[in-house]
Amino acid sequence: MEELKVAHISTGDLLREAVKTQSDLGKKAKEFMDAGKLVPDDLVIALIREKISSMEGGFLLDGFPRTIEQAKKLEEISEIDTVINLEVDEDILVDRLTKRRSCNDCGGVYHLLFNPPKEDGRCDNCGGELYQRSDDTEATVKERLRTYRKSTLPLVEYYGSKGKILNINGDKDINEVFNSIMKAIQPMM
Ligand code: AMP
Repeated sequence: MEELKVAHISTGDLLREAVKTQSDLGKKAKEFMDAGKLVPDDLVIALIREKISSMEGGFLLDGFPRTIEQAKKLEEISEIDTVINLEVDEDILVDRLTKRRSCNDCGGVYHLLFNPPKEDGRCDNCGGELYQRSDDTEATVKERLRTYRKSTLPLVEYYGSKGKILNINGDKDINEVFNSIMKAIQPMM
């Protein structure tokens, strides 16, 4: 991530890449992702373990851990400084995700209303084709939210009890949320 000079590791991006290249991991992960469910812990932990072991310097984990089991395994792999918990109203989330468009080539992310591309269907950065993620339909987003409440929400308590969580109001616009995060992590830099 440019602003923090740390690597950005997104398990969602890594899994989508695995699906695209039809690797063994991708073939196993696809059905869970399309259904709005979590990919099994052992697969995601192995992916993160491999990624972190080849890493020098700091990193930002995006979308990991998503279960208590993943959090416990992460502790065996590496010590983390803090957890950023973005709190967003569910109706706002459904609107953000169903109107999200992603670039097939560079991974750039747009929103049809709040951050539209200059040219319809084309990425501003690289001219790549924009597409809607197959799990960004309303039905799958709602299932992903159910999965979140059941499997991921307990992590708020887990990291809260360790004094490791920064709760950030994510309802605001992109710049305001970004500034709130930067301000909250300032003491650690
Ligand atoms: P994301 O790009 O973070 O929204 O993730 C997209 C999908 O990838 C999720 O709905 C899950 O199916 C899968 N996924 C991403 N990260 C994880 C994780 N840490 N554990 C299990 N499944 C994950």
